[in-house]
Order: sequence, then C-alpha cells, then structure tokens
Amino acid sequence: MNARLILPSLMLITGACTQAPEPNIVILLADDLAYSDLALYADTGLTTPNLERMARGGMRFTDFYVAAASCSPSRAALLTGRYPQRVDVPGVLMPQSRKGLPSETITLAEMLQSAGYATACYGKWHLGHLEPHLPHKHGFDDYFGIPYSNDMTPDSTKNPNPYARRHPPLPLVEGITTVETEPDQRYLTMRYTERAVAFIEQNADRPFFLYLPYAAPHMPLFVSEAFDGASGRGLYSDVLLEIDWSVGQILDALERQGIAQSTLVFFTSDNGPWLVKGAGSGSARPLREGKGTTFEGGQRVPFLAYWPGMIPANSTNSAMATAMDFMPTIARLVGIAVDGWPFDGHDITALLRGDPHATTPYEALFFVQGQRVQAVRAGPWKLHAPHRYRSIHGATLSTPSHPGAYAQDSIGLALFDLHADAGERNNVAGAYPEVAARLIARIDSAQAYLAPGR
Ligand code: MG
Repeated sequence: MNARLILPSLMLITGACTQAPEPNIVILLADDLAYSDLALYADTGLTTPNLERMARGGMRFTDFYVAAASCSPSRAALLTGRYPQRVDVPGVLMPQSRKGLPSETITLAEMLQSAGYATACYGKWHLGHLEPHLPHKHGFDDYFGIPYSNDMTPDSTKNPNPYARRHPPLPLVEGITTVETEPDQRYLTMRYTERAVAFIEQNADRPFFLYLPYAAPHMPLFVSEAFDGASGRGLYSDVLLEIDWSVGQILDALERQGIAQSTLVFFTSDNGPWLVKGAGSGSARPLREGKGTTFEGGQRVPFLAYWPGMIPANSTNSAMATAMDFMPTIARLVGIAVDGWPFDGHDITALLRGDPHATTPYEALFFVQGQRVQAVRAGPWKLHAPHRYRSIHGATLSTPSHPGAYAQDSIGLALFDLHADAGERNNVAGAYPEVAARLIARIDSAQAYLAPGR
C-alpha cells in the first residue's frame, strides 16, 4: 500500500459528520444468497428474525447490485470500489491460480487501517489464497477462514465433479498459516461468528472494521446441529437460519458493548443463486437467471443497512446502488480522502440518511462478465448486448457424476423496462430504438474505459 495516497481530510470530516466521527464498520456478506431468499424480498414463508430486525431498524434496498455475478470479482469490487477488471480480478480464482488482488490495490481495509481502525476478516476470502494475496496484505490485522469457496475440495462428498480431484485439501487459514485442512464445514458459520464477537468485544473502545464473508449458503450446504432441521423446510432454509443467527449475535454484541449507535452494519450477498447446480440453491424469481449471468438474478441481491440514529428505521429505498459504493461511502463517513484511486462506485450517504431528494448516483451501471461489458442499466432501462451465458433452461441438470452441467444459451440485443418487467422477459428494443441506440453507445464507451490497465 502506498500510505501517502490515503489522507485524512478535515474538510470531509467537518462536512460530512453530524454523528460522532469514525463509526465502526461491519460488513456481513452471504455467499450466493439470492434476491428472493428472504421474506423481506419475496413471499418465502421463512422468518429470519435478525435480518428482519436489521430491516426494521434500518433501510432495505430493492435495487442493489453487486459488480459481478461470481465470487472473486464481486468481492474485489466490494473491497476496492471499482469494477473488477480494473483491479485485475475479472473471474473466479481457482485453487490452482497463483493470482490474486494485486498488491498495489487500495482496499477498504487498508483505507480504514490507515485511519487507525482495527481490522479483521473472518470467512471466505477468495481474492488469492497464496501468501502475497491473503487478507493481511490487504489491510486486515486479523484473518481466519477458508481462502476460497467451500466446494473447492477433492472430497467427492462435497464436490462430485471429476475436475475437483485436482484440488488440494480445503485449507482453513489463521493469519497466513494453514491450521486445518478439510475443516468440518458444519461449524464454519459458528466459528466465524465466535471470532467476530470476540473481535467486537476486544475493540469496543476504538474504531474497528469487521468483514464477515460467510461461506454459506454456497453449495455444498452444511449446518450445525443446532440448526439441523430448524426451519422444517429443508437444508437451504436451515442454512439461512444459521446465517440469521450469526447476524443476531453480531447485533447483540454491538448492543452489549453500547456501540450500536456508532456502528454502520451492512448485510448483502456476493451474487445470485447457483442455479446450474440444480435443486438446493436459492431463488431469485421473478428475476431472470442467476449466478454467472448478467441478468438481474445474477447481480441484484438483498442489501440491508443498519445504523440506529443515522439510517431511518423501517425504510425502503428503490434507488440503484451497488457494493462498489461501500468504500467511497465509508471514506466520506469516516472523513478520509483517497487520492489517486478513482472509484467507480459512489458516495451513497444521502441515500442512507433517507434524504428525500437523494437519487441514484448512477447515470449508468455496467454489467460485466470477465473483460466484457454485457449489459447496462440506466433508470428503468436495461440493455443487453448480444452475448452467450450459462442457462438453466434446456440444461442437463445435476447428475451424480457431473453436477455442474449446464446449457450454453444466448441473447441478442435486448432492451427491458425493469420497472414494468423486472424479470427481463419482454424485449422492447423495437419500440424504443432511440433508447437502445443510446445505451449501445454507452456499452461501447464503457468497454474502452474499463479495459485492463486503465
Ligand atoms: Mg458467491
């Protein structure tokens, strides 16, 4: 990290903060939790009391997106405030990969560490598992977790796919050291939560940043005994209840320490449901498709923001916002200027405060897959450039020997009005040719702007 790039800004502190300065920051990130998995977003019939407690005490966003529809690039964007290809994480990192988030990247954790925050990450990292890329090289004082996805294991009971036999045993890492291999995945959420609560207790009298990226409900699904069968609705719902329990433990710890009023808590997911794995994933319905695609089901996810006294209670916000906004927003709230690090995300403080005049800061949001810009949203309009994608439709779904089977599908130029058609079913490009032409031009210019090395 280049320390001189991160400068405390008195102007921003005095301009931004009516509350006590330096709020604690907590980001809770579920893995592959889908838009319609929670009763807060769809008629699921499943009660998640602690997420509902967050929503009652805070703000629920309806049009919140991650910057990519798979784990690594989505996380890279969340932690840097930039589109994933601009920080050289365009795709999912595998256990064989030697790459990771580049060392010259400035992350949210580095920014806060430089401002005197205690920083910790407990959970799934997935931004490079080799030592030069682990969390401690990106601003986290403490790390405990699996360095990539929980299906990246040679254990055929967890990943029956033949190619997985090449993976090394799944590591559990403490700092930079592998302390276990093939940990009992039933207890990952519980162990991460225990670490997180202890971190809050140890740092209650100083500013801290806690990043808790759960390994669930990414498949394969595991749940501890306490939640086995708890939902009465199957394993996926049991897993959601354990995540919800963890959220409650975090909120309780903040209240016990008397710091709930000085802590900003975000809850979201890194991407949509892993539909091509077959039965057992979450659901984004009525949104189209899921993880791995630039349709709404891949990138629109739940987002709850909670800060008693700062964020209006029981509020809903339909402005378009993204996980790339976390870093610029937190920079503003903490009063830090990050010079030489151009964000693609925006400061959404006004949205979080419930300013009735606040609108989305996005004139256009781009949906990227690898190095390609596949789609753009501007206002109610979403335009897809012609592209191929992995679809569940017509796919040979999971078989014991090849659970990841999927069909390659394609879409031509298509324009959707998301306000009338959130499911992206009714192509209206023919009826609005001028809108389509304008958005095609936006994709073309974004393709050049987002090229590697820029
Ligand atoms: Mg994921």
